[in-house]
Amino acid sequence: MNTLLKTFPPILNQPLKMLIDGQWVSSQSGATLSVINPSNGQVIAQESLGGQVDVDLAVQAARRALDSGPWQKMRPSERTRLMLKLADTIEQNGDELAMLETLNTGKPLKMARAFDISMAAECLRYNAGWATKLHGETRNVSLPGEWHAFTLREPVGVVGLIVPWNVPLAMAVSKIAPAIAAGCTVVLKPAELTPLTALRLGELIQEVGFPAGVINMVTGLGHEAGQAIVSHPGIDKISFTGSTAVGKSILAAASGNLKRVALELGGKSPVFIFADADLERAMDAAARGIFGNTGQVCAAGSRLFVHKKVADRVIEGIAQRARQLKVASGLSPDAEMGPVISERQRERVLEYIASGREDGAEIVTGGEAIQGEGFFVQPTVIVNTHPRMKIVQEEIFGPVLSTQIFDDESLEQLAERGNDSIYGLSSSIWTRDLRTAHQMIRRLKAGNVRVNAAAALDFAMPFGGYKQSGWGRENGREGVEAYTELKSVAIDLN
Ligand code: NAD
Repeated sequence: MNTLLKTFPPILNQPLKMLIDGQWVSSQSGATLSVINPSNGQVIAQESLGGQVDVDLAVQAARRALDSGPWQKMRPSERTRLMLKLADTIEQNGDELAMLETLNTGKPLKMARAFDISMAAECLRYNAGWATKLHGETRNVSLPGEWHAFTLREPVGVVGLIVPWNVPLAMAVSKIAPAIAAGCTVVLKPAELTPLTALRLGELIQEVGFPAGVINMVTGLGHEAGQAIVSHPGIDKISFTGSTAVGKSILAAASGNLKRVALELGGKSPVFIFADADLERAMDAAARGIFGNTGQVCAAGSRLFVHKKVADRVIEGIAQRARQLKVASGLSPDAEMGPVISERQRERVLEYIASGREDGAEIVTGGEAIQGEGFFVQPTVIVNTHPRMKIVQEEIFGPVLSTQIFDDESLEQLAERGNDSIYGLSSSIWTRDLRTAHQMIRRLKAGNVRVNAAAALDFAMPFGGYKQSGWGRENGREGVEAYTELKSVAIDLN
């Protein structure tokens, strides 16, 4: 505890402000919200509750920076340099950022350091390279006479970025980085539950010298600050990561000025373990894939399909791993799984488990809240499910794995069972048979397929969902180009 106090991040010593036009300001209304540590339910900070007026100011600042500030004239290589400097600065401040992430989300400190913070730095480095590599092309047109025809790629404009609470820093950076690489200016709204690392990032952004107004941050509630961003006529594009329900409401709100909309939404991703798989690796990965980050991962493998021949061994193996997981506050050195984000989220997870029980499913392990302080839930494995159960159909966003068994049915039938979901974000296949793997890859309706791998997130690879898991892709060339408009130019040389 003493060590913790010595390193308690200074940002928590005062009420948190918002970053607008290069200044740290309180919300115009003066309203604030307590930020809670989910490991013990205690208040750790007060954040400003931004609203329409604050969003207006942030949008005006972003517009000025886009149209007339130094950003507009900055050469792409200078944008690259600033982004690389920010990546280094994030790493230099990695211990503090990880501590803030752990205090605010409860996730194990070592995981915050190794995963969340590194991901943020790597994401900036990857996207920094794109600033100098975006370009249009000349086109060979067949118009009569002589023409010079080409395309130009231009920044889409002022973008509103709205992120959730599960991976707060990395998620904020994964939207800011491609947007600024493309030359846009941004208004970011962190999730109201987890503003700490985004605001500390705001300080680092100033420290490395981004011009005022390029990156603005408004904290606040979804139906206030979030709503003000999505309906703002001065914003050209929204990139949203969050629930499918809110994603749908954003589409309607963004229609006023026909903003471009990118949506990274929920998932209910299937994991297929065939009898010939490397079962030890598959079980490790399946357990990590649903209990990692306490199951609060959009691409979590929450529906396990396992071949009958190995079902008992695999289900028991995953349950065994669940029982052995050290569930504790992220500050505890041996913690492997932290709490869920809030009391409300814990109730939601427990309601899903209860509905599974009522529908006749059986809990192999877990299924209960962990008593004491904080919002802890046991890692849970459920069998005897059928496809229409709520626990099989709906995204729980908690450490709950539902299992189904398959036999020697055709791969078409099996893929159909996997595709029986409104979502289509991710999927994984465990087999040593190349034909099985390739046939499944083609049949699965999911934006991401992993074979013999748990997480395979790389910023070069497009990430996004089929069906109600979203619109558009993040990462890769596609992710940066999504922050551009394409202009066609034709010059008559006749
Ligand atoms: P959420 O949709 O409740 O909130 C996400 C963000 O949207 C928050 O900042 C919130 O304040 C804001 N918001 C809420 N209502 C709004 C409104 N009406 N207008 C504008 N903004 C609004 O989601 P959550 O509970 O914070 O996050 C969990 C969800 O996010 C899960 O469904 C998960 O699958 C999804 N998610 C998806 C991805 C992905 O890449 N596909 C990644 C992480 C999380």
